[in-house]
Amino acid sequence: MFPARPADFRRRAVYPRGSIACHACGTAIHVYRLATLPDEVSLRCPACGARDFYSSRVLTVEQLPERRRKPRG
Ligand SMILES: [Zn+2]
Repeated sequence: MFPARPADFRRRAVYPRGSIACHACGTAIHVYRLATLPDEVSLRCPACGARDFYSSRVLTVEQLPERRRKPRG
């Protein structure tokens, strides 16, 4: 007997996100363009507005689920 379940192909789409702590206030700054990231990148903190250079080697890369939930019905 076959299980009577609807086609259930939920792909777990994820995207990488870089995260680094602001030098001034410690707030996590998120970087989404990881593919083209140079060794050093200039980032501006969204919380305190401080701009500084950060080494992409100390970035923490997280895998986040894609925000593409389209509820049906
Ligand atoms: Zn800051």
